[in-house]
Amino acid sequence: MLENSHRAIADAIGSELKLHVKEKNLLIVGSINPDSWGDFPHHTGKEYEILAKIFKARDLHLKNDDECFAELGNALHYLEDHWTLRPRTAEKHTEWEYSIDKSPLLDDDAFLNAIDEATMPQKAIDAYKKLADSLIKIKNEGLESWFDPSWGIWHKRYEWMVESYVSLVEIFTRAMIEEVGTASQWVRLMGDDIYVNESYPKFHESSFEEYIDQRFLDPIVSGYQAGVWSLASLSRPSSWSSPAIDLNFAFRICLEVSRYTLVPAQTIKEDDDWSVPRVSANEKGHYLKGVKQMPDDFFVPSISGPKAPSTPNWAVISKPIHKVSEERRSNLPKIKDELLRIENASIFQTATHSEFWEKLLKKAIDLERQKVQNTRERE
Ligand SMILES: [Zn+2]
Repeated sequence: MLENSHRAIADAIGSELKLHVKEKNLLIVGSINPDSWGDFPHHTGKEYEILAKIFKARDLHLKNDDECFAELGNALHYLEDHWTLRPRTAEKHTEWEYSIDKSPLLDDDAFLNAIDEATMPQKAIDAYKKLADSLIKIKNEGLESWFDPSWGIWHKRYEWMVESYVSLVEIFTRAMIEEVGTASQWVRLMGDDIYVNESYPKFHESSFEEYIDQRFLDPIVSGYQAGVWSLASLSRPSSWSSPAIDLNFAFRICLEVSRYTLVPAQTIKEDDDWSVPRVSANEKGHYLKGVKQMPDDFFVPSISGPKAPSTPNWAVISKPIHKVSEERRSNLPKIKDELLRIENASIFQTATHSEFWEKLLKKAIDLERQKVQNTRERE
């Protein structure tokens, strides 16, 4: 999207949310800045950064730090670019961006009309209209009309947690080997097998179960944070579009994300991650639970493979979090059993993995099988 379009959206959001002049200007500057940082292309692959920036903006806002507007502006920039269709050639892309810039921000009726009249197949029109209706409903009746604050964002599948666990072990091991020169030589001489067979089992013993259970049984985030992140994670329902559709979806999603990132804490019914600023562990231990998971857990999917950023490992489940927790807890033995019957790593192939990764995975599954066998023998 061109600078002018980013500016226009931030300006309109500032007016709609009745921000003070300085706050609005910070939002505008934040919305324009990322294009001067040179991290191109950033129309895709910024999904996790968008959420992290929204989270940071919320935290700053709760601490009355006006940098929150600039931080939110950064997130909006990437969100807006995310909603800019990307034709294959650079020239066509620029042309598309110029057309977006010439499109106006539309009111509800004109927005629905623009979708109806766009040159695209009926099923694309229907899909965009459904999404447009949800956004209009959220604008008029609030986020709660679409998202229940008792829901959470969950990791979808148990084996994907195993996959990200193994990826993390790989990353940490590689970093450790890089750091310790002698260990590096030792591993280079002996090969990766020495780590997999001698050092890894001890690590596995203390970390595997805890890592997987914690991430599968509890939501990544819940409450309003999950609602706002879900909004920010919406993706276009069709590869057809028009410049007016791109601009207005970007505007409407950014508007709601901004509204709920800047929502006053008092209006949130129950204290959750969205109503209490982030504090350190010794100040207020209980609050950290939801937040603590973010840096490593949240970013794991983007590390675990090239496909991960556009196909998140997680989903919103429309049931209260305690219910999902209970269900998952009672199904866990069966799920684990199925995993241990796997003969090859084919179910894990959501991304390309190294040979070392495959050795680690195989070892992890072997160790788990052994554990099950030992328990059976004792019984
Ligand atoms: Zn950009």
